[in-house]
Amino acid sequence: MIKITLPDGSVREYAQGVTGMDIALSISEGLARNVLAAKVNGKVVDASLPINEDSDFQLLTWNDTDGKQTFWHSSAHLMAEAIEALYPGTKFGIGPAIETGFYYDIDMGDKTLSSEDFKKIEDKMVELARQKNEYQRTPISKAEAIEYFTEKGDEYKLELIDGLEDGSITFYSQGNFTDLCRGPHIPNTGFIKAVKLMNVAGAYWRGDVSRKQMTRVYAVTFPKQKELDEYLHLLEEAKRRDHRKLGKELELFAFSEKVGMGLPLWLPKGTMLRERLEGFLRKAQVRAGYSPVVTPHIASKELYVTSGHYAKYGQDSFQPIRTPDEDEEFFLKPMNCPHHCEIYKVKPRSYRDLPLRLAEFGTVYRYEQSGELHGLTRVRGFTQDDAHIFCRPDQVEEEFMKVIDLVLYVFKALGFENYSAQVSLRDPENKEKYIGRDEDWERAEAAIIRSAEIKGLPTVVELGEAAFYGPKLDFMVKDALGRKWQLGTIQVDYQLPQRFELEYTGSDNQKHRPVMIHRAPFGSLERFVAILIENTAGNFPLWLSPDQLAVLPISEKYEDYANELFLRLQEQDLRGYIDHRDEKIGRKIRDAEVSKIPFMLIVGEKESAEGKVSVRKKGEGDLGMMPIEEFIQLAQEEINKNIARIG
Ligand SMILES: [Zn+2]
Ligand SMILES: [Zn+2]
Repeated sequence: MIKITLPDGSVREYAQGVTGMDIALSISEGLARNVLAAKVNGKVVDASLPINEDSDFQLLTWNDTDGKQTFWHSSAHLMAEAIEALYPGTKFGIGPAIETGFYYDIDMGDKTLSSEDFKKIEDKMVELARQKNEYQRTPISKAEAIEYFTEKGDEYKLELIDGLEDGSITFYSQGNFTDLCRGPHIPNTGFIKAVKLMNVAGAYWRGDVSRKQMTRVYAVTFPKQKELDEYLHLLEEAKRRDHRKLGKELELFAFSEKVGMGLPLWLPKGTMLRERLEGFLRKAQVRAGYSPVVTPHIASKELYVTSGHYAKYGQDSFQPIRTPDEDEEFFLKPMNCPHHCEIYKVKPRSYRDLPLRLAEFGTVYRYEQSGELHGLTRVRGFTQDDAHIFCRPDQVEEEFMKVIDLVLYVFKALGFENYSAQVSLRDPENKEKYIGRDEDWERAEAAIIRSAEIKGLPTVVELGEAAFYGPKLDFMVKDALGRKWQLGTIQVDYQLPQRFELEYTGSDNQKHRPVMIHRAPFGSLERFVAILIENTAGNFPLWLSPDQLAVLPISEKYEDYANELFLRLQEQDLRGYIDHRDEKIGRKIRDAEVSKIPFMLIVGEKESAEGKVSVRKKGEGDLGMMPIEEFIQLAQEEINKNIARIG
């Protein structure tokens, strides 16, 4: 008998040679129907593999990442089977699972695969899946493996076999298809119920540009048709919400080849949005005891030599800027921290001056390869909502809690309800990799964990993920489509205070070194705006909307009343525009809808005679005619709603 320890810690005894599927059946038949694979002592294996020793054991279903990956990798075999059936003579490279779905690299000789062939392959896959063919594992000698693929004429598999050790090679077969694979796989093809080929791309064999270019076929499969439908809907929705597309349509930002790649140009409406965000955070920061500072966009090489950034990033960053003076070199600012260290050093500091919190919306420049650039999320110039807190070691916990408060305040105000955090600590086995005193690390790490706990933040702790100069806390948010984004970060730093020889006089009259905390709730304004656009689909909360309203006169007869009305709204800090065009009202309404204007105020004869407005609200439709004051109150209540919610 062997002992099998389940994830809940319970231990069951089974005869030696029991399989994962046997164990599943002994628990419940319903469970067994959903088992895709098993995890034995941390290793994912076929559910049909015999277990011969005491083991930690877990059943894997569609709900486990490893289960999904096994499902998708097995689907790659199914797709290969379908392709081979339809296009005999196709040669196969590798077919791994990826984050969503899987691909297979294939060589079809002269035939080029296009999306017109997809339907045929999908249908064949479904047909083969319905046969519920088992994935059968066969250990095979190297000689036999070579013989099989020599006969088949697949030089790719032969090259893969060449790199394998005799005795470690396995074949897997399902239906009429046999593949070289170490596994694991799902029990049979019947689990695969919904199939979709996504696209094809060129891919060099083994990623080597000097070798043959193969066709990479991307696809995704699901155990239920409904799940595939939902996934495709999500993809459509993501496309519709793409911030690059909406940014253009809503006239928020643009790029110009002449200005340079990855250097966003903020258009008037985008600037309005950005300035609202800045203003909101600036106000919150002043309340939280931050002091705003401004520092230049370039700095002398010396600053970055001192900070260590020159040694670390000098090669990858932009080239130096030279002045006519000999040996004078400047760099574009890649980060604000060194400048802030110099502000700290402007005068002697005492323990009573700490914490010192310096905040700057600091624009920084970092070289990114052109292929890496992506809308506002990967750019070469961006503005961090940066701040550096210089504090005593005993203040780290309190400061951390305050920063968490601020970050959560920002998330709530902007409608990100679903957030979590990752605590990155040092690797306890490798303490020498990190700088700073042991006791300071222990104190800071404990402080981060405790403050996250006190603030009720859902966290995961990762050992060995800290920077060499300090532990950190990274915030992730889930957007409306369930996608995860990394946003703000809080990071403890023992290195820069040391490099810049920062000091304060303690109550003991001795010199001490402060701790530095870097933090940025948004991360960068560019990235944050991108996420905000995709999360809201461009339907910003009223207080952030670049244009909150559009006044739409039915004809030019009501221009005067429209102007008068608009002035009154402006006096109440409401912003927008009057649509003066000589267009039909229906057209004006449609255009305002496309621009996602929150309120449309339609004015005609009745409205102007009675001093009223007819209000249409985005997403709600016609609210009817009301006095101007009533509309102003309605709009202001909505603006205050966000702020009131966070108290
Ligand atoms: Zn496989
Ligand atoms: Zn910093």
